[in-house]
Amino acid sequence: MSADAGERITYHNGKIQVPDTPIIPYIEGDGIGPDIWRATERVVDAAVQKSYGGRKKIVWREVLAGEKAFNQTGEWLPKATLDDFKTYKVGIKGPLTTPVGGGIRSLNVTIRQELDLYACVRPVRYIAGVPSPMREPEKVDMVIFRENTEDVYAGIEWASGSPEAQKLITFVNQTFNRSIDPSAGIGIKPITRFGSERLIRRAIQYAIDHKRRSVTLMHKGNIMKFTEGAFRDYGYQLAGREFPDQVITEDALYRDYGGRVPEGKIVLKDRIADITFQQVLLRPDEFDVIAAPNLNGDYLSDALAAQVGGVGMAPGSNVSDEVAVFEATHGTAPKYANQDKVNPSSLILSAIMMLEHLGWQEAADRIRQGLESTIAQKIVTYDLARQTAGAREVKTSEFASAIIDSL
Ligand code: NAD
Repeated sequence: MSADAGERITYHNGKIQVPDTPIIPYIEGDGIGPDIWRATERVVDAAVQKSYGGRKKIVWREVLAGEKAFNQTGEWLPKATLDDFKTYKVGIKGPLTTPVGGGIRSLNVTIRQELDLYACVRPVRYIAGVPSPMREPEKVDMVIFRENTEDVYAGIEWASGSPEAQKLITFVNQTFNRSIDPSAGIGIKPITRFGSERLIRRAIQYAIDHKRRSVTLMHKGNIMKFTEGAFRDYGYQLAGREFPDQVITEDALYRDYGGRVPEGKIVLKDRIADITFQQVLLRPDEFDVIAAPNLNGDYLSDALAAQVGGVGMAPGSNVSDEVAVFEATHGTAPKYANQDKVNPSSLILSAIMMLEHLGWQEAADRIRQGLESTIAQKIVTYDLARQTAGAREVKTSEFASAIIDSL
């Protein structure tokens, strides 16, 4: 394939191989998606150009999903889009409308399930100048790894009074001598060793690669022993088996090392979910990488995003062993569609994550520094402007231009 047409990202022995002109599929998204995508694309292209002087360049390839896909193809999520993510390994997307009615599932959930994107990765890091409810928001620097495929989110549930719920209730009550009320709605919470291990392995590997200090397994295992408790146990067992030289447990830290973390080691600890929600607020600097099952990880991700400016400032990715899809974490905010008004930072920060994933650290650092300096100058979109004294409120496109000017 010629350089102009771009080349594919591939994997060799489990390691990503990135050509100088990688083809990267993108979904523009619905609602505010096109506005924030345009801003993001301009910022990324400018940073790559400035960092590598034309030696490297992303070849963007639009793929369809959501309303645009439906209008053009009659399908909400064409198979070609999923195939392109599989083929090109790295993609980025704006928010998508969840079609209402007609039995259509959330497109985001479908993308995650079809591509087996088992880890949702959400870094939460404070940018100076962003309004925050925290007293010391600069202490917030965490990365959440949320399991994406199991737990009560697996979609195995039946409505109160349905024949399926009644059949299951009768079975459980008779077979296990339980007394579930026959009118109950029923959901099932599967958590496997396989699903837990691949998520926790990834979190630990991330901590090692990024020289982080600790990995916290967040769970509600004191109550749900064989699901959330098992998640915790699988995590400790995996660390002992696969990372014996890099990881020490919190017990070992105090027993063998007097509470001082030895050079190059990562501490593995666990915290019950409810106390975690308190401690991330009261002592955010004690948390670093956090691994959690699906439901708790979902709640924690948005709660932590609020500490650093809300979902408009929170990036994310959904990843499998080979495919990674980076995305804005907020929705389509339809009332602001096509007004060139909203904050593109979530998608821009997701693009920074994507560049880091490609190993294009210089371009990633340049955008982060450009974003930070723009916000430090109080040049911000309406959402931050209304909370920032002396701010200059700008449009989405002007915010992108300000970042580009300070790259
Ligand atoms: P939403 O995130 O779209 O909007 C809620 C409010 O948050 C908006 O009205 C706006 O005030 C604010 N907001 C969101 N993004 C912003 C930004 N970038 N800058 C400034 N302010 C911003 O949530 P919703 O209203 O619950 O959902 C609307 C649609 O989005 C639904 O169809 C939902 O299914 C979909 N959705 C998609 C995703 C996704 O694709 N990942 C995530 C959540 C919701």
